[in-house]
Amino acid sequence: MVLQDLGRRISGALHNATRAPDLDEKAFKAMLNEISGALLEADVNVRLVSRLKNSISTTVNFKELPPAVNKKRLIQKAVFDELVKLVDPHAESFKPKKGKSNVIMFVGLQGAGKTTTCTKLARHYQARGFRACLVCADTFRAGAFDQLKQNATKAKIPYYGSLTETDPAKVAKEGVDKFKKERFEVIIVDTSGRHRQESALFQEMQDIQKAVTPDETIMVLDASIGQQAEAQAKAFKEAADFGAIIITKTDGHASGGGAISAVAATHTPIVFIGTGEHMLDLDRFAPQQFVNKLLGMGDIPGLFEHVQNLKLNQEGTIKHITEGIFTIRDLRDQLSNIMKMGPLSKMAGMIPGMSNLPGMAGMDDEESSARLKRMIYICDSMTDKELDSDGKMFMDQRTRMTRVACGSGVSVREVEDLLTQQRMMAGMAKKMGGSMKNMQKAQQAL
Ligand code: GDP
Repeated sequence: MVLQDLGRRISGALHNATRAPDLDEKAFKAMLNEISGALLEADVNVRLVSRLKNSISTTVNFKELPPAVNKKRLIQKAVFDELVKLVDPHAESFKPKKGKSNVIMFVGLQGAGKTTTCTKLARHYQARGFRACLVCADTFRAGAFDQLKQNATKAKIPYYGSLTETDPAKVAKEGVDKFKKERFEVIIVDTSGRHRQESALFQEMQDIQKAVTPDETIMVLDASIGQQAEAQAKAFKEAADFGAIIITKTDGHASGGGAISAVAATHTPIVFIGTGEHMLDLDRFAPQQFVNKLLGMGDIPGLFEHVQNLKLNQEGTIKHITEGIFTIRDLRDQLSNIMKMGPLSKMAGMIPGMSNLPGMAGMDDEESSARLKRMIYICDSMTDKELDSDGKMFMDQRTRMTRVACGSGVSVREVEDLLTQQRMMAGMAKKMGGSMKNMQKAQQAL
């Protein structure tokens, strides 16, 4: 992710300047130039960069700094505050209310990630107790309804669309009316895009807006859009007056600065960022946390929310461990918990200082997640009796391993490795369980 490189360059420049024992004006200026260069390379608009540079210079006011002042702190704070300002338009974004039908309409160019993000957002609200659903008003792109249907079915979200109706405003109205009647609380309308901004698209957006009168319109912007982001966002703002932005594909190789500039150009807040193709890859956007993470300072509130949302399956395993047991099913549950956490590098970015550690940046998420998936497939090819066992039955009857390997499409060696891992953990559980029991006994004796 190139945004990470930007963060590394900025924090590197800050570190170099503030590390010097006699931090002089020359070092301060060199730092400002390095930060500006990094932002420009990441496609942040030149006017914004120049404004940021002037603001930091004015705030720090190096020439008139009293000798006793902590220059390092002052500079760090000024850089942090200006970066936050860059992504924070100070505009309140819409929040859906419980017990009411909140209609949210998505707009953006084709391929920006609207359909994918619609489902992610519906799932996000569903997980927070809202009755959420999806309406496909994209009658322009063949296959759009099918794509939405597939995503919605996978995420168990009710949807509405039509394979025959060609008027998008009509489909949108029918869907919204139906779901309003059924008392859905978050109704998300996906609209069609075009490869370029064109008048037909803008007319269509306005017709749909008139038909469904959304409570919020969200523009979806691809992080890789670069310098055109500002003009595109302005044109969409004029036509559809959106009140929030979602930036997608921040996990890719995009520099991301163009999309950030779009925020400033339209005075519209970013509400979420897409961080991958998976349903859970949607992070709430908070300016201060974003800058903290960008500079490698971590995002503890984000980490906390992420772990809480995972609804980890731990109770059974914890109970087993206190009894000194660790079955193959326990191993499977723990593997699936790790999968739910998302890419390991994403977790690392949320822990202060972790993302700057050598080796972290090059961690291969794809390889580790493919390995975890294979381990889960192995468990899923076992019978309930095998899953709830301590694994000994595989040693007594080795043909079981061959059967499971065939069923899960892996080698017998991989099944053996998984069983070895489970045995190691069972050994640890036995020791821990024993000491837990002793502790409980000691407590009872007191
Ligand atoms: P639409 O034409 O705007 O509806 O775009 P789609 O939802 O069809 O998305 C276009 C492509 O972008 C699809 O292949 C999605 O899987 C992919 N995509 C969407 N959001 C993200 C994201 O946050 N990260 C990554 N890596 N891919 C994404």
